[in-house]
Amino acid sequence: MRAPIEARHRVLIVEDESALAESVKYALELEGFDVHTAATGHDGVEKAELLNPSIVLLDVMLPESSGLDVCRRIRASSDVPIIMVSARDAEADMVAGLELGADDYVTKPFSMRELVARVRAQIRRSSRSGVLSDASEVLRGGRIELDLDAHIVRVEGTEVELRPKEFDLLESLMRRRNKLATREILIEEVWGPSYFGDTKTLDVHIKRLRAKVEPNPSDPETIVTVRGLGYKFVDD
Ligand code: CA
Repeated sequence: MRAPIEARHRVLIVEDESALAESVKYALELEGFDVHTAATGHDGVEKAELLNPSIVLLDVMLPESSGLDVCRRIRASSDVPIIMVSARDAEADMVAGLELGADDYVTKPFSMRELVARVRAQIRRSSRSGVLSDASEVLRGGRIELDLDAHIVRVEGTEVELRPKEFDLLESLMRRRNKLATREILIEEVWGPSYFGDTKTLDVHIKRLRAKVEPNPSDPETIVTVRGLGYKFVDD
C-alpha cells in the first residue's frame, strides 16, 4: 500500500556505478520518491547539505573518497538516516559504517523490493522520532534520565549526545525497565516492523549506547545482555 505522504520524501543515492544508480533511482521513483543521485563522495556531501534529503543511500566504494568518509562528513552536520551499500564480502566496512553513525546497511546484490522496504522503514522511523519528541515525558532509571520532550539524555546529571537510533533504543529499553526486551521487539520498535536487516545492526547500536552511558562499557551494569534473547535495562 502506498501512503501519499511518501511522495514528498527525497532520496539521495551516492553511487559511482551509473547503471546501478539508475536502476535504484527508477525503482524508488516508481514508489513515488523524489530521487537524486551523486557519483562522487564530494558531490554526495554537497547534495546531502543542499537537497536536505529524507534518506541517503551511500555506497562504500567510491572514487576519490570512501563512503565511510562521506558518512562521517554527513554525520558531522546531519541526523539524516543513512543506509550503507556494499559488496557482500565487505562486512567490516559495514560495521565501521554503523559505528560512524549509519543506520542500516545492505549488501550487493540486493533486491529492489528489499531496498525499498528498508528505505521506507528508515523514513517511517525517523518521522516517528519527530512525533515522539513532542510527547512531554521523562523516563528515569538509575543514573540515566531520558527527556522525551527536550530529546535529551543525562547520565548522572550530565547531558550526553545520542544519535536518533541510540535514543530510540534507549527509550525502548527504559520503557521495559528491569524486564527483558527481546531482540525482535527492539528491532521492530527502533527499525520498524518491515526491517529485513542483519541483527548485527542492533548489537552495534547497543555497543555504541553502552559506550555513552555505561561507566565501564566492557562490563555493562545498566544495559545488560540476556543471552540468546535480548537485552535488559537494569536500574537496581
Ligand atoms: Ca562503487
